[in-house]
Amino acid sequence: MTALLLGAAGAQTVDLRILETTDLHTNALGYDYYQDKPTGEFGLEYTATLIKQAREEKRNTLLYDNGDLIQGNPLGDFVARVQPLKAGQMHPLHAAMRVLKYDAGNLGNHEFNYGLPFLQGVIAAAPMPYVSANAYKDDGNGKPGENAFTPYLIERKIVYDTEGRPYVINVGVIGFLPPQIVNWDKSNLDGKIVTTDIVEAARKFVPQMKAQGADIVVAVAHSGISADYQPGQENVAAELTRVPGIDVVLSGHSHQEFPGPVYKSIPGADLTKGTINGKPVVMAGFWGSDLGIVDLKLNYDRKAQKWTVADGTASLRPIWDKTAKKSLITPDPRIAAAVKKAHEGTLAYVRGKVADLTAPITSYWALVQDDPSVQLVSSAQTAYVKAALANTQYKDLPVLSAAAPFKAGGRGGASYYTDIPAGTLAIKNVADLYVYPNTVQAVLVTGAQVQEWLERAAGQFKQIDPSKTEPQALVDDSFPTYNFDVIDGVTYEIDVTQPSRYGSKGELVNDQAHRIRNLMYQGKPIDPGAQFVVATNNYRASGGGSFPGLTGKNIILQAPDETREALVKYFNEQKTVNPTADGNWKLTPIPGATLLYVSSPNAQKNLPAGATLLRTRDDGFAEYLIKF
Ligand code: MN
Ligand code: MG
Repeated sequence: MTALLLGAAGAQTVDLRILETTDLHTNALGYDYYQDKPTGEFGLEYTATLIKQAREEKRNTLLYDNGDLIQGNPLGDFVARVQPLKAGQMHPLHAAMRVLKYDAGNLGNHEFNYGLPFLQGVIAAAPMPYVSANAYKDDGNGKPGENAFTPYLIERKIVYDTEGRPYVINVGVIGFLPPQIVNWDKSNLDGKIVTTDIVEAARKFVPQMKAQGADIVVAVAHSGISADYQPGQENVAAELTRVPGIDVVLSGHSHQEFPGPVYKSIPGADLTKGTINGKPVVMAGFWGSDLGIVDLKLNYDRKAQKWTVADGTASLRPIWDKTAKKSLITPDPRIAAAVKKAHEGTLAYVRGKVADLTAPITSYWALVQDDPSVQLVSSAQTAYVKAALANTQYKDLPVLSAAAPFKAGGRGGASYYTDIPAGTLAIKNVADLYVYPNTVQAVLVTGAQVQEWLERAAGQFKQIDPSKTEPQALVDDSFPTYNFDVIDGVTYEIDVTQPSRYGSKGELVNDQAHRIRNLMYQGKPIDPGAQFVVATNNYRASGGGSFPGLTGKNIILQAPDETREALVKYFNEQKTVNPTADGNWKLTPIPGATLLYVSSPNAQKNLPAGATLLRTRDDGFAEYLIKF
């Protein structure tokens, strides 16, 4: 289609810059609601400054958001559940985006977490159009009926060539989401939404877009990048570059950066140019960490009367210097102004009481005895996984839970412990219990594998000589506390007079040694051949910490939610939270031995039986002696 406003002579080259934000997860501001303090590491208010700068450099720009916008931090919960938006009321993230004049938005998987009616209300009040091509209404038989959302748009855009002459080009934009949403949000979508493969939908709609006059096609895919492609797959952005007619792929969902070293072995990827198979691709991190930039050079072919993409590159601009740990730019004050009321409401929500807490939660003794800070995480994980598996083939299997002390001194320093007094539990206390943005996952293991999992975790302890009477240090400081998994749902002892079965990298070093004793399920010795589901996190399930039997191959649940959100959900559902540890594991007593344990001076508040303070140290820690 001819798209000239002026029939000028000479070369007609248009520089077009396409900007992407993705996976903002309601982070309008650089504010950590769990820790209740500002940060420069994320937030659209920072990305907004990069958007302003990127626009100042180029005359022709477009701006798209790639979804996972309305869920992910307490602000998202606040406007969806605590003080729900009224009919017609604009979502605060959209109020922020209105300032930035987005051209279109795409739906991510998390857009469905609060149900379809909420999402439809959000889209209806949005300041920009939304596209999503591979979600369909259920035709009544579980088959795709008509499109559930507008699949694509073709927008007339006035652009200026390198000599300042104006043209109109037709920019096609098409959206995609992971087909897995129907599983992840089954309760919200069953009987209502059916999804199809992303690439299949692209092959169906892109030719229609071209036929309807799209000069260029931008695929906005809430989908990551993987080396291979199978129909129905979650991460297919690389395959989209091979669909004829698509000129640019905006990727997301994986919370990674493209171009970036994570993707160095993707076939056809050029990390210098930011292309895959010659097409520009960008994935702009998450929570506003980066602005994605695609720069296209368009030439007008007078003979064929069409625009062609002569060149395309992609790059990222970060908001935060990870090495120097400081902001690279200042925030755009218009964003904070746009979300002021929702932010204030969220602060009141995270600071307010969500449940009664019947006992203090501390982690001072978490490395030597069953501990409330770990117990509570396991209780929340178990509840989450049981609910998630309720309608699956795994519903009758026992659910165990693995969790480790995260805030337990060590390299974090003498104040790096959990210490929540009894009384009130608030959302912001989640930060004390779970510092990492891990997601919930579950694995299928045998009783024998449960034993090996615990043997690996028991490598945290030094070997104790029972014949010595002088104090012996108990904990190996070089062992990260986050690898000291406690498994709830079984009972066991750890005998530290034995050598560790596994070495520091998870390698079997003493194949005759066993520290785990009396491992029982429901009061009986565990059946090595029985199957168990273990609730854990994405790090451990995919092989983090090199635990035996955990290679990513036996994952049966990859939940879309962070473990922190499972904790928030658990708090909200329990009017009263009793975090008292159930004492399901203990160290096997060593009569006559004295163990040396390092913790906070505050650990004196709840000294276990047999423990005494030896001394406080200049580095802020305290040493305790334990006899049992
Ligand atoms: Mn996301
Ligand atoms: Mg326990």
